[in-house]
Amino acid sequence: MIITLLGTGDSPGTPVINCHCRTCEDARRKGWERKRFSVMVQNNGKTVLIDTSPDLRRQLLDCKVEKVDAVIWTHCHFDHFGGFGEFYRVQNNVRVYSTPQIHDDIGYFMKFMSYKPIEVDAFESFNVGGVDFTLLPVNHPPVSAVGVKVEWKGYKVVISGDTNARIPESTLREMQNPDLFIVEALAPAGKFRKHMNAREAMELGKRLNAGKIVLTHLGHFYPPHHIAVKSYPVGEDYQSFSFGEGRLDEFIGD
Ligand SMILES: [Zn+2]
Ligand SMILES: [Zn+2]
Ligand SMILES: [Zn+2]
Repeated sequence: MIITLLGTGDSPGTPVINCHCRTCEDARRKGWERKRFSVMVQNNGKTVLIDTSPDLRRQLLDCKVEKVDAVIWTHCHFDHFGGFGEFYRVQNNVRVYSTPQIHDDIGYFMKFMSYKPIEVDAFESFNVGGVDFTLLPVNHPPVSAVGVKVEWKGYKVVISGDTNARIPESTLREMQNPDLFIVEALAPAGKFRKHMNAREAMELGKRLNAGKIVLTHLGHFYPPHHIAVKSYPVGEDYQSFSFGEGRLDEFIGD
């Protein structure tokens, strides 16, 4: 199983249009970017996308993905579903898994597209391509949002989704002891109603006894990537984690 961070940015991405802060200018000058949030899970020749970033066309082309077998939506914010239309014209009737509430919220915007909504309840696992997925309610007011637990051959990966630090206990129990915790951390510091800062995300990772923590959904509030990465385990676009034969390997895509 290979897990790839297709986009590690927050909703405006980095660089932010019309922002000339140090981080956005560094990104423009050196050509790095934080595209919008999506995590790709690949196993047995199947590709599952957790969220469909508005940057999805570029992400799929860059990763040479020719077919999407299923999509999981975590919540109804534009940066998490807006890119569904990016492959709508090349691929019809994609299976999309989410809770009934999140399907309702996003379906409102998707009236002109055909896809196969599959309703799954939180805490009920389902299998796609030999990988077990479970949706876990988190706390991202005012909308309904879930994190995702991914299990394969004894490995456990948890993706927090967009959430503040006040995650329900029932979810925390399911998130315990992940080999890899992909956790949102909008900014290095500061208090946010809907999101975590890096300190809160790291504390949560320790509380869950995560084997490895990688921060994602990162805003331009961080210093430029090459500096930020010295202080926090910030992810980068196309960073991949491969699981198998008792090992977790890590690489950056070509
Ligand atoms: Zn978001
Ligand atoms: Zn900026
Ligand atoms: Zn959100």
